[in-house]
Amino acid sequence: MTAPGFAFSQSGLDRAEHFRQMPQKLDALWQYANVLVLNEKNEACLYDDGARYYPAARVSLQRPDSATFLGLSGKQAYFAVTQDAVSHLPVTTVNVRAAAVQWPALDATVFAQAKALLHWQAHSKYCGRCGAISDIKSAGYNAVCTGCGLVSYPQTHPATIMCVSDGEHLLLGRQAVWPEKRWSLLAGFVEPGESPEQTVVREVAEESGVVVQRVRYVASQPWPMPMALMLGFDAYAPVQPVVPSEELQAARWLSRAQLHQEVASGELLLPDALSISHHLIMRWLLRNADTSDFWHTNG
Ligand SMILES: [Zn+2]
Repeated sequence: MTAPGFAFSQSGLDRAEHFRQMPQKLDALWQYANVLVLNEKNEACLYDDGARYYPAARVSLQRPDSATFLGLSGKQAYFAVTQDAVSHLPVTTVNVRAAAVQWPALDATVFAQAKALLHWQAHSKYCGRCGAISDIKSAGYNAVCTGCGLVSYPQTHPATIMCVSDGEHLLLGRQAVWPEKRWSLLAGFVEPGESPEQTVVREVAEESGVVVQRVRYVASQPWPMPMALMLGFDAYAPVQPVVPSEELQAARWLSRAQLHQEVASGELLLPDALSISHHLIMRWLLRNADTSDFWHTNG
């Protein structure tokens, strides 16, 4: 499998889950660990010389109870802490989207993991059942209520994003809050009790009135803004009139030639290159337009 061209899906750590219950092992790993420090906005705080990781000894000689164990790359351990664990204030911060463009894939992926986990921890301080304080345990991977004992785990919110096409035309939409001229694929969160394939059909119908006939999974992307998992799909639908919805400012079908021309002229802006939506649109642009062949040989 070739590496996908979008962020947060490449490399990544060996999460070494069994170590989360081994405090002595974690203490030993801490001594030489790379530590990600995140501020209250969940931005990466860079070490003095602009390095992405703090040496663990500059955070604390002893492993803080609050340190989250992210995993290993070879023998190198990675932990994440919040900024309040660090004695001196960092000078430079970097947000996750910028990091994904500037940093090597492993670093961007590790940062995405830390960002999603620490966001969950920050929103898990109180039990969702009885309201008592919860303690973060298992090296950052669960929250245990001090009142009723309820254990909760990090959450990921699945969402679908879909390349809706008849083979020769692509359905794009835009939201009113997006930058001017930005268009992208339709997308939506999976609801409880729903399969992602059902979400694709429902969301496309809700947002554009278009009836999807076939759905096929393509690829996924963790999207830690803050805790989503984007599931990318191809969806087949004949070109049909678009019915405007409240969710979208506009939606329309574009042929390949039209999309090429509008992108080239600057009339239409595609999503960021780090996103799976960009990847899916480019993949569609480069594909042979013969849909019947595409759907019947691969579907
Ligand atoms: Zn409780």
